[in-house]
Amino acid sequence: MGSRADFHTHSTFSDGVLTPTELIELAYRRGVRVMSLTDHDTTEGLPEAFAATARHPDLMLIPGIEMSTDVPGAEVHILGHFIDWENEAFQQELARLRESRLGRARKMVEKLAQLGKPVTWERVQEISSEGAVGRPHIARALVEAGHVASVNEAFDLYLSRNGPAYVERERLTPRQVVELLLSVGGLSTLAHPRDLDHLDDLLAELKDAGLVGMEVYYQDYRPQQIQRLRALADRLGLLPLGGSDYHGLGGPQQREPGDIPLPMEPVERLLALARERGALERARTTGGR
Ligand SMILES: [Zn+2]
Ligand SMILES: [Zn+2]
Repeated sequence: MGSRADFHTHSTFSDGVLTPTELIELAYRRGVRVMSLTDHDTTEGLPEAFAATARHPDLMLIPGIEMSTDVPGAEVHILGHFIDWENEAFQQELARLRESRLGRARKMVEKLAQLGKPVTWERVQEISSEGAVGRPHIARALVEAGHVASVNEAFDLYLSRNGPAYVERERLTPRQVVELLLSVGGLSTLAHPRDLDHLDDLLAELKDAGLVGMEVYYQDYRPQQIQRLRALADRLGLLPLGGSDYHGLGGPQQREPGDIPLPMEPVERLLALARERGALERARTTGGR
């Protein structure tokens, strides 16, 4: 059973394959009526996404973002919803992080050349189109160049955290990101928490910083895992949210927009919280600006 809500999707402005317009159309066709575009570390897809909702007045689009952060030994992603994305200081911070991302992608391309698996920087940029260049784009360039058979293999052999072409990237801590999102009125949610170590401690710390939710309904999470995460969310007073994390890349874990068992009750609670904080209007009125 699909959900009418999906708080986690990607477009061509990060590493998704659909434009914001195509994404909105697909989600709408699938019955999604409350959704958020949460590209990685950028809000540049939002103007197009809001324009695309003009054809669907019964669709609520929430301005969102997914930000990458680091804890020792792992990557933690935080979603921000209802953000005041046009805030200048916020955009400057995003631009600074993008610059560092670009430098990092270049270094990985250099390492691949040294490993005898050259791909051109131009091609990597073309593949990412207007989006923020990242490892998935380099992976696709490796497939195209015939160095590997699949994107998965590119990650397994070269680009994963322990791979020979991997380069660390400057990142904020999870707490810094929750605070940054809060500074622009964002309601933040911990993304795909299932496999994180010390999850209780992390959630307690982030709740203290202003975290309001965690993803419980996500891609291939099984009923038992959902139950465990839901109990944790309830215990800590966090909203049990979720999303498909739709990228359009295919693969066994991928879900279509709305193809998650997210009930509407926590969705309503998030909307109520946004209303309480005066952020609900950002979900609709930013369209057409
Ligand atoms: Zn993520
Ligand atoms: Zn994501």
